[in-house]
Amino acid sequence: MKHEECSSLFHTHIRGGDYTRCVECDSTWKPFAEKPPIGLRPEHIWIDARVDEIRQAIARYIETGRPIPHEWLDELARRT
Ligand SMILES: [Zn+2]
Repeated sequence: MKHEECSSLFHTHIRGGDYTRCVECDSTWKPFAEKPPIGLRPEHIWIDARVDEIRQAIARYIETGRPIPHEWLDELARRT
């Protein structure tokens, strides 16, 4: 039986070879690529960048004498 057909969620890690074995069908496979795929930026980094963007947008609007959208001020207050 192939592991795709057994649907078992129970696996054991085989030390040394970096392999995983299914406890139901006895299939083995390498669980991870050598290099992990790109993950996710930490939330606080994203929020800091967003706060910078809002501040810069507000500065640009002030420079040209435009009214600041209240959504920007609300969001800035919410995030700082
Ligand atoms: Zn299996």
